[in-house]
Amino acid sequence: MGGMTVETILGRMFIDGNWERGERERFRVVNPANGQQVGDAPIASDEDVARAIDAASRAFRGWSGLPAEDRSKYLHAIADEVMNQIDDLARMVTLEQGKPYNEARAEVKYGADFWRWYAEEARRVYGEIVPAPRGRRIAVIKQPTGVTAAITPWNFPSSMVSRKLAPALAAGNTVILKPAEQTPLSAVLLFEIFEKVGLPEGVANLVTGRPEHIGGILMNDFRVRHVTFTGSTEVGLLLAKQAAAQLKRVSLELGGHAPIIVFADADLDLAVEQILASKLRNMGQACISANRLLVEGPIAEDFHSKLASRLESLRIGDGSVDGVQVGPVIDEQSFNKISSQVDEAKNEGAHILVGGERWLGSTEGYFYRPTLVTEVTPAMRLFREETFGPVLASTVFHSEQEAILLANDCTYGLASYLFTPDIDKATRVSEALEFGVVGINNALPMAAQAPWGGWKLSGVGREGGHWGIDEFLETKYLSIGVTEQTR
Ligand code: NAP
Repeated sequence: MGGMTVETILGRMFIDGNWERGERERFRVVNPANGQQVGDAPIASDEDVARAIDAASRAFRGWSGLPAEDRSKYLHAIADEVMNQIDDLARMVTLEQGKPYNEARAEVKYGADFWRWYAEEARRVYGEIVPAPRGRRIAVIKQPTGVTAAITPWNFPSSMVSRKLAPALAAGNTVILKPAEQTPLSAVLLFEIFEKVGLPEGVANLVTGRPEHIGGILMNDFRVRHVTFTGSTEVGLLLAKQAAAQLKRVSLELGGHAPIIVFADADLDLAVEQILASKLRNMGQACISANRLLVEGPIAEDFHSKLASRLESLRIGDGSVDGVQVGPVIDEQSFNKISSQVDEAKNEGAHILVGGERWLGSTEGYFYRPTLVTEVTPAMRLFREETFGPVLASTVFHSEQEAILLANDCTYGLASYLFTPDIDKATRVSEALEFGVVGINNALPMAAQAPWGGWKLSGVGREGGHWGIDEFLETKYLSIGVTEQTR
């Protein structure tokens, strides 16, 4: 592919089975590689959001009442259609979000995996029968939580929608989705697929626009019983507070600042390739991106130079151009956050081994060179705050215990990684890490069948696997009186 051009795309909302252009103003969606407008989307009014909640509420009885097998068929049809349309869906991800096209395809495929997995999981929402006192039976059944509000981020504009909506719909819930302002158009394409497969009216609704405004209405309406959110810790904490007022269930997938521990006995070539793949996926704009590199003293110099030469060799540019490995970051604000963290670390004594500045190959777009900063200390902001860019911050350690302390010295607890062939050490360290995901000789842990989620300020709840559907289910205990007959 040699750079994409498109007509400006008209984003629409989808409420109660109808496409709507909205009555009020619209907001622009731009390509972060060149600043050009890709399309626009409506700003929902109070009334639009209220109608979406009404529709989801009305549709709940019918949708939750369907046999699981029937819901499963819809989800399989969505998975099929996502794969049929993978080229178009991936192109849209690259256009509005900036990641290289091959990565965008991988993202869309990852989303399809969730539709497929939860199409199957829908049919396995088992209850339990518990041994009971005489004259009774104890049955435990699982039922959907009700109307769900789903709020998603811009960094994976297609798969984050699928990762939430697939288990929600599989469980029998109805949904109102608010996608991120930078990337609403990938969500529009997914809703076109819902329409195409004939998902009943009101089961899935899409509203776009001002976050505090839409969030406020969703959070204040008692009929919304569950909010599932992926995004920053700051907004996640705000939503958790708002949800507390009505005791809505919350599932929160928030920020991370993943440590990656490289022991002296590690396969260094494997570690370099895995770290690069983890770090540069989506230009480092991933919650599980390898950020805080912890390297054991004796190999530090050698390892840093291997990593630096690979970072230097990467091809940067517009993600829609063939062979590009590193695209732009999403916007100016993100760019400024990355460069200020790196500049600050430099002023405080850290050393920039490679990168540390804007890529000058383009005058447009927000391109930051892949960067390795060494001699980073735990006092630096680069060590403590999520960077969300193509920057590795390295700190040297001298013992297993020190590596664990440094890794856990963080308010986040999403992903962590370690590299060593020593099974004893890998077991001890992985058990000591305070993170929801530990990659052992592997820094690419994404999989629809695994439980995804964070400890500490990285969130509550899990997405993926059989754990993911539990988030969308209530437990009901049936105490059944039975007249016993003598046998
Ligand atoms: P964000 O700023 O928190 O936004 C996420 C979503 O929340 C967007 O749709 C945003 O809308 C909306 N939002 C913002 N303020 C809101 C409010 N007051 N009420 C209701 N909704 C509100 O996060 P982001 O910058 O898009 O995403 C990056 C963050 O997501 C990073 O911290 C990353 O680590 C995290 N993330 C976590 C995971 C995980 O699995 N744990 C996965 C992916 C990303 P607008 O776009 O309209 O502002």
